[in-house]
Amino acid sequence: METDTATGTPAGTVSDHETIDGSVTLRTTHPGGNGRVLEVDGDTIRLEPETRDSTQQWFYWYVDVESDVDQPLRIEFPHDEVVGPRGPAVRTATPCGGPIGNGAWSEWHWLGADHRIDATAFRYAFDADEQAQFALSFPYQRADFDAFAFEYESDPRLSVETLTTTAGGRDVPVVRLGPSDADHHVALAARHHACESTASYVLEGVLRELLESEAAGSLLETHRVHAYPFGDLDGVERGDSGKHRAPHDHNRDYVDANAIADLAPLYPTTSAIADDLRRLESPTLAIDFHCPFKWGGDINDRPFFVTEPTAASAELRGLAGRLEDVTRDRASGTEPTLTYDASPGVGLASFDGQSGLLHTFERYCSRLGAEPAVTLEVPYVGTAMDPVTPANARQFGRDLAVTFDAWAPSDTR
Ligand SMILES: [Zn+2]
Repeated sequence: METDTATGTPAGTVSDHETIDGSVTLRTTHPGGNGRVLEVDGDTIRLEPETRDSTQQWFYWYVDVESDVDQPLRIEFPHDEVVGPRGPAVRTATPCGGPIGNGAWSEWHWLGADHRIDATAFRYAFDADEQAQFALSFPYQRADFDAFAFEYESDPRLSVETLTTTAGGRDVPVVRLGPSDADHHVALAARHHACESTASYVLEGVLRELLESEAAGSLLETHRVHAYPFGDLDGVERGDSGKHRAPHDHNRDYVDANAIADLAPLYPTTSAIADDLRRLESPTLAIDFHCPFKWGGDINDRPFFVTEPTAASAELRGLAGRLEDVTRDRASGTEPTLTYDASPGVGLASFDGQSGLLHTFERYCSRLGAEPAVTLEVPYVGTAMDPVTPANARQFGRDLAVTFDAWAPSDTR
């Protein structure tokens, strides 16, 4: 097992196993890889999510499986309910010599409820030499961000700078959109919790809409948008859950010196984001994109802003109401999309017992004057009517960007 010496966590494993009909290779060495092999027995692969340096068991996993023969396999998590209502997310490698060439992957999609056995297991029929990747939900890695940035490389309104370098030696990007001499600023962030990948598709959708649409793009006449797509890039690329890290995770790291204690952030990235935020004239709007618990419960299947509903500011209620209207107006009517319901307890909701006094990006931006400064939770799976897919999550981000016109110059609205 390789170890990332800078951060002391595994860089993934590769192992070969005999099955009834042939053999199978299991890997977690790809970006985002996570999954400990417990055993391979007959036609069954048994895995568990790796907790790593988190102090709580979490549910994130993402494995690569290659079979040498045609064979149906059962993939099982004997100790964990980590196979969602639509089965895992899956993509398959294009065979060597295929039309796109070696190394290309199909689009991520849900494997489907018909392949799901229960919340702990699913089935997949491999073709000979087929390589497939499976995950709890849709991964979004540094390479996905780079592909997005490359598409807009020639747009002079966008620049991607290196904010800092992580403990693991990775360059941390920051995206700037709009005039460099703007008086007003918007701060957007994601992946303070490494595994919360569907949030990244939403953030990318916001940036795409700001660059492509006139309605949303008018914001860029008066505002500069600062997007921090990877609050914990090492965790994203290593495949950590990044939740509840010991002694604290990246979204508890926005500490400041005060009269009582001389506190400093633990992580270079959060420290650099905090420095960057302090250089802005007070941001007018700040959103941190997250994912909630895996699925189920009262709040985990629909997007929501994290707030006690009765405590939501007029600005946040305005944003929420507008987002509800935009998502419903833009829903296609034929294909399911991701809509937003601003009702208290649905689109404005809070986690039981979560203190508002944690050292989060949201709170840090709030103290710098952003209103609203808020966390948006994007589900991992969604519902039958509002399923999360990469396309739906990007569209939801586009819808959110349209709501920003409330901050645009009034003569362009
Ligand atoms: Zn989170």
